[in-house]
Formats: sequence, C-alpha cells, structure tokens
Amino acid sequence: MQKKFEEYAKLLVEVGVNVQKGQNLVISCPVDCAWFARMCAKAAYAAGCREVVMSWGDELLTREKYLHAADDVFDSVPEWRVRFSTDYAKEGAAFLHIGGSDPEILKGVEQDRLVRSSRSSGAALKEYRQLQMSNAFPWAIGAIPVPSWAKKVFPDCPEEEAMAKLWDAILTSVRVTGDGKAVERWKEHLDTLQIRIDKLNALRLESLHYTNSLGTDLTIRLPEDHIWGGGDGTSRAGIHFIANMPTEEIFTAPLKNGIDGVVYASMPLVLSGDLVKDFHFVIREGRIVEVHAQVGEEKLKAETTLDEGASYFGEVALVPYDSPIRNQELLFYNTLFDENAACHLAFGEAYAECIKGGEDMSKEELKAHGLNDSITHVDFMVGTADLSITGRTHDGKEVPIFVDGNFAL
Ligand code: ZN
Ligand code: ZN
Repeated sequence: MQKKFEEYAKLLVEVGVNVQKGQNLVISCPVDCAWFARMCAKAAYAAGCREVVMSWGDELLTREKYLHAADDVFDSVPEWRVRFSTDYAKEGAAFLHIGGSDPEILKGVEQDRLVRSSRSSGAALKEYRQLQMSNAFPWAIGAIPVPSWAKKVFPDCPEEEAMAKLWDAILTSVRVTGDGKAVERWKEHLDTLQIRIDKLNALRLESLHYTNSLGTDLTIRLPEDHIWGGGDGTSRAGIHFIANMPTEEIFTAPLKNGIDGVVYASMPLVLSGDLVKDFHFVIREGRIVEVHAQVGEEKLKAETTLDEGASYFGEVALVPYDSPIRNQELLFYNTLFDENAACHLAFGEAYAECIKGGEDMSKEELKAHGLNDSITHVDFMVGTADLSITGRTHDGKEVPIFVDGNFAL
C-alpha cells in the first residue's frame, strides 16, 4: 500500500496541480490525514516547489462550530481568511484540496446558519472564486478516506475493512495500481477524452434533449460560441493541471435562459454536510421554478435560492454510464466520485472557459454570452442506464449523442 500512497501523492502534485519550480503550493487536508499531506508536501518539494503552505480542516470541529459558535460568526469572514486564499490565488500559487468527510457531518445543524455562512463566504471569496473559475491558477481536488465516510459507503463492514475498501475504490478510480505507471495511464485517458471533445466541438450543437425512464424530459440550449472541455485545463501561466482527480466528464455551459422541462436526479446528493435524496426540478426559461425532494427538500430549496444565479444552471457534463467509477457499482456519497460516474448538471456559476475567449472576459461580457453567475456551483447526477441525449444542430439536424446511457459518438 505504501507504494500506492506515494504514487497517488505524486500524481496529485505532479499531474493534478502540476507544481512548478519556485511556485507556492497551498494544501488543504483533514488534520487526521496529516501523514498523506506530508507525502504530498515531500513530492512537491522534490518537484521544486518554493513553499508548501497548509490549511488544516477537521470535520468534527466544523460541526462544533456550527452547533455552538456565537451566532454572528456566520455573517462574516475574517479579512485574514480572505487574504489567505485570494493573495495566493493572485500570485498564481497551486491549490491542492484533499477532501474526506462524513457525508452527513452537518446533519441537524440549524439551516439558517448554513445559509448565512454560504452567503458570507460566497461574498468574501468572490474574487478568489472568480480567479478559480477562469483558471487564473492551477488547482486540483483529490480525496482521502476517513472512517466516518468509509462507514457510509460500506455500512456492513467493520471500520478497518471499510477503510481498506474505500482506499481501494479511490485508487482504482484514479488509476493508481502501485506499478508507477499512473501518469502514463492518465495521458492515455486524457487522449481518449480529447477525441470526444473534438467531435462534440465540431458539431456546433444548438441544443441537447435529455430523456429517460425516471421522467427526465429536458431541453438544454447551448451558447453560440460554447466550447466543450474536459480532462486537463491550462492556467493563465500556461501550466496544465487536472482540476478533479478522478475526472471522466466532458462539459460545457448551458445558455442561462435556455433550459426547459423536468430533470430527475439519479443519485443522492451531499449538500453542505447532509443528504438530499430522490429529487427533481421543473425548469422554465433556465430558472428552477419547482424543487421536489423526498429527503432534504428544505436544504435543496435553500441552496437553489442562495442568490439569483443559484436557480439557474452553470454546467452540462457528459459521462458514459460504462465508466471505471460507475462500474465499481458504489455510491460514494461524494460528488467528486459520483459526478464522474454519471452525466450531471450543475446549478449556479458557469466556467468561463466554456465560451470562446471567456477566460479574458469580464463578468458582464460572460453574462452577455449567456453564462450564469452565482456564489454557488452544485453538481448533481442525472445519468442512468437508459439515458438518451439527442443533439440538434443550428440547421435542425438531429444527432444521437447518448444512447442507452453511453456515448453514441
Ligand atoms: Zn462536472
Ligand atoms: Zn461542476
């Protein structure tokens, strides 16, 4: 296992954020997983990193804070916290986020505190997020098992076995086997994604029509100058990085006012530390006009009304049903994995890179091109084994994009 862990750390640092000589690296990681953060730091220094700066997290302390901190704590973010992220982002430092937590860690926390906290951090970190969404700096998100999470994924196993199984599932998803060839496998994987991206971009689609047996019947119009992307991104300094590890998706942005119909989620969603299950949206002219959920409806309604843009969409992503993550037949209760097991959409902010020249556009210009703006961005899964997606070109030609859950291209 030691070899696999080292290969994974190296992959996150050298391929994920692709840290450069003389560049700073900010790592956020659960404090219980310090040993793995040290491995990543070691790999970063070996690659010539200037300084590794840590941002530790602890899910139990976060829960204590939401339960017991003074009420006004949730209405503002201290200036030093804003500066920490924004200053490093502005200088083009690399950001590696290693996440792992109990999907229901904030269950029972007062909803109002969560909403106020999202709003205040959304406002305070606006500049940071804007830099992130326009690839101003390289960033990557990876995951690490913690016992509380492992027990949710494998509820019938004792803790130690659940942890071993979750490690195995994560490493399989990121193509780490311990043979030292993960980087080569990622290169191959990125090439495969690129072939499909090129095909989609060549089609210049006007819209997509989704249908499946859950009841989804949704039309999504795309901006005229939309671009499909996926796999790796390029930062303003020209550094290739992979924002999500794993990543199986090909994505673009929808036209803000161009979505109509009904869409059913195909998997539960972890939303600010709690679960939302069996939900669907009714959408008119891009706006979510109805929110229905068997579990967590109030939570979902709160998230889709955080600001004006939260009730519009920001991402359309295609993932074949037959993918290495989905084929493990696990529900990870973690969006990083579950979104790469199924076609998904996101409500909230769109990525600037989804429009030709978008990374150099102002907020107003992006809006004029039909891109949504919000303090939130929440991916939720819609893909099923029987999902069909039909594309329509500007001259009215229909092209099957997905048939029976998989790419038809
Ligand atoms: Zn996505
Ligand atoms: Zn997303």
